[in-house]
Amino acid sequence: MKIYEYQAKGIFKNYGIPVPEGDVAETPEQAKQIAEKLGGTVVVKAQVHIGGRGKAGGVKLAENPDDAYEKASKIIGMEIKGLEVKRVLITRGVDIQSESYIGIIIDRKSKKPVFMVSKAGGIDIEQVARETPEKIYKFPVDPVYGLFPHQARLLAYKLYDDPKIVKEAQKTIMGLYNAFISIDASLAEINPFVVAKDGKTWAVDAKVVLDDNGLIKHPELEKLRDVTPAEEKEIMAKKMGLSYIRLNGDIGCVVNGAGLAMTTMDVIKHFGGEPANFLDIGGSSNPEKVKNAMNILFSDKHVKGVWFNIFGGITRCDDVAKGMVEALKGMNISLPLVVRLTGTNETEGKEILKASGLSITSADTMSEGAQKIIQLVRGG
Ligand code: GDP
Ligand code: MN
Repeated sequence: MKIYEYQAKGIFKNYGIPVPEGDVAETPEQAKQIAEKLGGTVVVKAQVHIGGRGKAGGVKLAENPDDAYEKASKIIGMEIKGLEVKRVLITRGVDIQSESYIGIIIDRKSKKPVFMVSKAGGIDIEQVARETPEKIYKFPVDPVYGLFPHQARLLAYKLYDDPKIVKEAQKTIMGLYNAFISIDASLAEINPFVVAKDGKTWAVDAKVVLDDNGLIKHPELEKLRDVTPAEEKEIMAKKMGLSYIRLNGDIGCVVNGAGLAMTTMDVIKHFGGEPANFLDIGGSSNPEKVKNAMNILFSDKHVKGVWFNIFGGITRCDDVAKGMVEALKGMNISLPLVVRLTGTNETEGKEILKASGLSITSADTMSEGAQKIIQLVRGG
């Protein structure tokens, strides 16, 4: 679960990380009031669940409260990478001397929390990792012992020479580790961590991703959830007993079984297509489930065609076919549909689809199914 910068900063503050003072505004008037209270130069920052706001024009300095009003009215309502800005954070402006990067993630390979620090802060760290990986220093932490102060100091020395600043950075690194562990995060990041012209250090930006599986231990963090339309669908699907994850492609897929669903996405990719989702309707062939699955996919305007890839084991192909026919008859669907039914009662299933008179393209193999739906979606 992603949380907003202002929420992450609220957590960081409790762990002794220096966070510039500020507050959230939903209107330009509120932004002005906060700026008045803070005094001096402030920063107006779009609150969206995505990075790169600075480049997109979602982070702006304001010299006085009226300017804050101006900047806030520009930023509130704008769209950043498809996400609408509903709130801005107004924080005290920092006179920046240098920007570095401090982050910690759960690394699947080493199965450990891994710290990453870099002098190349402020900019897109993924780009640094791609182009100049040597500029990032990585340090795996043994979760049994936790992070020792001398290790935090070593990390700080990778960023700074001045012992006074090192001490400050060490405190932030310890704080970040403690926060990360306590809230069961999968990522916690400060980019940039800033040394100001007066020598003080500040966490100017904050990013936290919480581990969904850890949320059960943190009801207070669950309250920070802000559901986007895409996530709303995922939650709705969960309630219906479907495992659904929205992706960025245009080919919808309806599959029974998680393994087959993964393979289906791989095969679509293999033949040059882009899956619009992961969707596992599970082992049951309950027509209601098939109907719900189709409702979810067809209401997504990115979906340009749907591939049903069903393997009949316990699930019987004729039951799935019945569900499909029942569902499709009540809908007005003009999208191309490809169906691959194989396994238990496949002949019966295919008969049902044929007899229904619905416009469906049939496929016998995985490769055939993928190639057919890609061709249909691409207007072939
Ligand atoms: P992001 O683009 O979404 O990562 O948003 P950030 O919060 O990291 O802001 C982007 C950039 O804006 C930073 O790297 C800074 O260069 C600049 N910025 C943010 N806050 C301040 C500030 O208080 N003072 C100054 N001078 N620049 C800031
Ligand atoms: Mn940033």
